[in-house]
Amino acid sequence: MSTYRSVKGMNDLFGDEAAGIIGVEQVFRRLAGTYGAQEVRTPILESKQLFVRSVGEGTDVVGKEMYAFTDRDGSELVMRPEATASVARMVVQHNLLHTDPKLRVFYAGPMFRRERPQKGRYRQFHQIGIECFGEASPVADIEVIALAHSLLLELGLDDVVIELGNVGGADCRPAYLDKLNSFLAQLGDALPEAARETAARNPLRLLDSKDALVQELLAEAPLPMDHLSASHQAHHDALLSGLQALGINVRVNKRMVRGLDYYCGPVFEAITQKLGAQAAVLAGGRYDGLLKAVGGADCPAVGFAGGSERLLLLAQSQRQTRSRTLGCYLEKEPVNLGVAAAPGANINDLLKFVTALRSAGVRVASDLSGRSLKAQMKALHRSACAYVLVLGETEFESNQAALRRMADGTTVNISLDFDTVLKAVLED
Ligand code: ATP
Ligand code: MG
Repeated sequence: MSTYRSVKGMNDLFGDEAAGIIGVEQVFRRLAGTYGAQEVRTPILESKQLFVRSVGEGTDVVGKEMYAFTDRDGSELVMRPEATASVARMVVQHNLLHTDPKLRVFYAGPMFRRERPQKGRYRQFHQIGIECFGEASPVADIEVIALAHSLLLELGLDDVVIELGNVGGADCRPAYLDKLNSFLAQLGDALPEAARETAARNPLRLLDSKDALVQELLAEAPLPMDHLSASHQAHHDALLSGLQALGINVRVNKRMVRGLDYYCGPVFEAITQKLGAQAAVLAGGRYDGLLKAVGGADCPAVGFAGGSERLLLLAQSQRQTRSRTLGCYLEKEPVNLGVAAAPGANINDLLKFVTALRSAGVRVASDLSGRSLKAQMKALHRSACAYVLVLGETEFESNQAALRRMADGTTVNISLDFDTVLKAVLED
């Protein structure tokens, strides 16, 4: 066993895992581009206060799961637990909405949360996500959900269900919270201690509590979706009608509140039955108040984030049958040409030859370190090359060599002119 091991819950990605995560990101990159979004990258480290102010101190993500530390100059930093707050900070800091008031950006990268590791839940994991700014109309919510829907389809995850909720906003939440709080007050001591604490901090969170007793006690609780203001209701109805026009099925879940404080209006999650407690593969919604919370102007915004590992786990479970798109990333790219050095070959000539081919995009396998021809051939067989050339003095002098096609063992004599070799090995 090696002396050093990766930190608990933080995975090395290699082989199929690495190819798969990159594949998920590539599929998302292409789709997000079709929605007019530009890729951005924000730093891993951010100030702690950014997440406290935006995601909210009472949330699990900020209250319990953040990797936080004090830097040498005394600043309180965190490893980002999510990227929406970071993107909002970036947009405000660089005044990006000045040049594009309807900016759409997307990202892919690692996030960090100190949770109990299990399948589909890690301490360093990857998210892909999109954020659309400046659009108050439900069209933005519809497009964001349509993008999520097409991501799921492209990955072959057609048994994932999109659930839609609505947490209302400033013009309906205070009145609703009054109703919820009186309902909770009338439960009195029946609520468990921990739930009473949640009720004092953020009563909405009780609605999606996993505690069976709390669920039972709140079965008849007033729900935000039944108390929407006229404008939130109209927004929600337009959203449903747009999704219906696009043929996107959603299941309405009146109890969905989402974990983060910055949501208002529609929220959604894509849910699977196949990953146990790790049921959500992506989640998002509207967060019109977020930009203001991080120091910007009032600006509507909507987006989602997806967990790349969970999307990959699901896609892999049905890979052969459904996800051809992802399959192409999981298949190893073939090596076009293997080059072996015949005994006594001039290695510099060979190096020039393979380097020129590589510059032209040919995938070349070669070991020119001076091993026996037999050892070289064995290695080339292992790397599954489409073609093999054995080159030495004779070949370079005559400018001719035997090109072996590995699939059927046939050989043809070809000229070693660059264009001829290129054409021959890239033919398949
Ligand atoms: P959960 O309820 O599973 O903890 P969440 O509500 O905390 O999820 P979000 O903050 O909405 O998750 O993040 C969006 C997506 O990121 C999730 O739907 C999930 O796919 C993924 N995700 C969240 N936390 C983890 C984690 N610790 N490991 C792997 N993926 C994660
Ligand atoms: Mg979580």
